[in-house]
Amino acid sequence: MDRKKVGIIGFGRTGEGLFSFLLDDPGVSDIMIFDDKNIDRERLPSGYANMGVELLSGEEGIKKLSESDLVIFSPGVNGRDERFLPLRESGVKIISEMEFASSLIDSEIIAVTGTNGKSTTVSLIHHILDRSGIDSHLTGNIGVPLISEVKNIDRESVIVLEVSSFQLEEIEDFKPGITMILNVTPDHLDRYPTLFEYREAKLNILKNLSENDPVILNYDDPFLRKTFYGQDKFNFRKIWFSVEESGFDEGGWITDNKAILRINGKEQKVSLDGNPLIGSHNLENILASFLAVSLTGLSADNLTEALKSFSGLPHRMEVCGEKKGVRFINDSKATNVEATLKSITGIEDDIALILGGKDKGGDFSVLKEHLNKKIKKIILIGESAATIAAGINSEKTFFTRANTLDEALRKGYEVLAGSGGTVLLAPGCASFDMFKNYEERGDVFKNDVQQFIDEG
Ligand code: ADP
Repeated sequence: MDRKKVGIIGFGRTGEGLFSFLLDDPGVSDIMIFDDKNIDRERLPSGYANMGVELLSGEEGIKKLSESDLVIFSPGVNGRDERFLPLRESGVKIISEMEFASSLIDSEIIAVTGTNGKSTTVSLIHHILDRSGIDSHLTGNIGVPLISEVKNIDRESVIVLEVSSFQLEEIEDFKPGITMILNVTPDHLDRYPTLFEYREAKLNILKNLSENDPVILNYDDPFLRKTFYGQDKFNFRKIWFSVEESGFDEGGWITDNKAILRINGKEQKVSLDGNPLIGSHNLENILASFLAVSLTGLSADNLTEALKSFSGLPHRMEVCGEKKGVRFINDSKATNVEATLKSITGIEDDIALILGGKDKGGDFSVLKEHLNKKIKKIILIGESAATIAAGINSEKTFFTRANTLDEALRKGYEVLAGSGGTVLLAPGCASFDMFKNYEERGDVFKNDVQQFIDEG
């Protein structure tokens, strides 16, 4: 057997996982790793003495990659980038890590995609399965790359896979057992030329599904409803969920604080008493999760308890303190306008909203209708402050500027002090202008809030 040369593009967590996996593959003779940053050999795990390993960078590196038999992309890399065109044209087989890893797996895969809510939903699904004694593995975009889990699973395992649109771009044969699309709203328009391309990438997850393969879809998402509801040309098994409508042939909805789940002609009611998650968007995530676990065959009997014991994820509508009737919520993960809008809708009282960061091309004018109703003030931070203010296009008195999160939360508090309300960090932008990532932004906010509260 000829041993293969394999190229890896991107050497973050996924690249490292791929490298470790390929090291143990007797069919591989050489590994080339390409990254924009120079890779330090010290980062490579030991044990590659019998294999050719080359570390590549720059234009020359891309050229060199075309000598491999197979190239695997990390999810963070834009495979459509023009600079990879010569590589594509060289005829080398190029696939995504998800495609590569999933081809090695025969366990049940629940694949979750969508613009917002993926991490919350996969975590909840995993939590429910795990509590029920199922060997569940939480992988993909959320943390541990799928390739790093391949060796830890067997046929009985369930893979709960968070899938980003970037990963979906390179799909060839990927076919999940249970598929879910939570929503498709504008995001990443800095990477996709138009909303059309972004949507196309998301829908790629359906590419290999055949009749009767289950797909969980959000009826409340206008794009998904228009594209799939009552459309016979898509003959996969559509399972709808909605917090506004009810009575689907198969699907889930809410009545009297209960989730109604109808699958295979059987209807079950699940009480949502003790639900720890704030906001109606989380009801969507809960319904979708309940439907997914029901499709694996799990009984609905213990879902109320499982939900109650779910602690939610940090940086998503995370209540991080209160001072004299003013609450502070960290939703640093709201990195696009739609997520910010959902955060606002999920809060009942008055809001001082901290908004801004690195712009991703979102349309902030949709926030205007909440101004002077729920939103009492917008505190702008970061690089996009001026663009956002221009986008919302409202009286100057609604806006104020802050240079740090500490300054922002204090300004927010001043607005609400006395009457009460919520200082909400839901920036609607990426964080990279001021922070390493949204986690750091959220952590800084939480620390600043704590300090502010401790001042008395
Ligand atoms: P993702 O992994 O898709 O980015 P998260 O669960 O991390 O999703 O949530 C990201 C942001 O989107 C959070 O700010 C959260 O409040 C908001 N969000 C969560 N679920 C939904 C949903 N179903 N629809 C819209 N926004 C949501």
